[in-house]
Amino acid sequence: MILYDERLVSREEANIDIEDRAYQFGDGVYEMIRVYHGRPFYMDEHLARLERSATEIRLSLPYPITRLKQLLLDLIQQNHLEEGNVYIQVSRGTAPRYHGFPEQARPLVIAYTQHAKRPLAELNHGIKAVTTEDIRWLRCDIKSLNLLGAVLAKQTAIDHGAKEAILVRDGIVTEGSSTNIFIIKDGTLHTHPANHLILNGITRQVVFKLADECEIPISETTFSKEALESADEVFLSSTTMEICPIVEIDGRPVGQGVPGPVTKQLQEAFVNEIKRTTLA
Ligand code: PMP
Repeated sequence: MILYDERLVSREEANIDIEDRAYQFGDGVYEMIRVYHGRPFYMDEHLARLERSATEIRLSLPYPITRLKQLLLDLIQQNHLEEGNVYIQVSRGTAPRYHGFPEQARPLVIAYTQHAKRPLAELNHGIKAVTTEDIRWLRCDIKSLNLLGAVLAKQTAIDHGAKEAILVRDGIVTEGSSTNIFIIKDGTLHTHPANHLILNGITRQVVFKLADECEIPISETTFSKEALESADEVFLSSTTMEICPIVEIDGRPVGQGVPGPVTKQLQEAFVNEIKRTTLA
């Protein structure tokens, strides 16, 4: 089943018009929520961010977020989703093609689930990344459907045999194409501040909480590409990739070229957080 507007229907029943504004303009917002043990992880935080993204593009959700939450819980249950992802998107709706906001259109919510295991090979061994210019717009804090900057960056990574593209704007590391980036130098964590140049990842916020609990100092200040290259450890965070070590950047090893001790400590804390929140 999928969620279509306010109903759970079969995928075949969903009908997306060719003039849906998500389709024509990328005019909408989205979220991805991870499910472990049949229960959503940090769902309220994701839904709050969805609401914020919608507000920032002046889109009103067609029904309350509490209603959406119940529909998503029903969807997870009906699809017997034990381990996987829930994708949610809200389009501004369908109207004759014209850039300005339509007066009549009802925003369209859709959501569906994917069965997906935790990416254990990547989590255990780390991944390769490449750096590339951050060519995205200046409202990266909004989780909008306009993803061409991310798509092109990710493909550059894939073309180089890497898994993630680390974006650099004016010599400063902002974030990954679909992840937040952290470096560790002399025991301190550094990550870009949550402003208009990055998405304030929910997993990023979990990392802050876990670092605090592990008494790992954390500094929310910008760092350069050179600092990235000379870091002791580098990792990324995201809903689907969790806390994942980056062991090679632009063909050169990070530190010893294997996941480092601070990253591993945070990964262990993350697994405990999954258990704490979804096995209770
Ligand atoms: N930055 C960008 C650009 C992203 O697309 C994502 C994934 N949605 C993230 C960071 C990580 O955010 P989260 O931890 O909420 O998945």
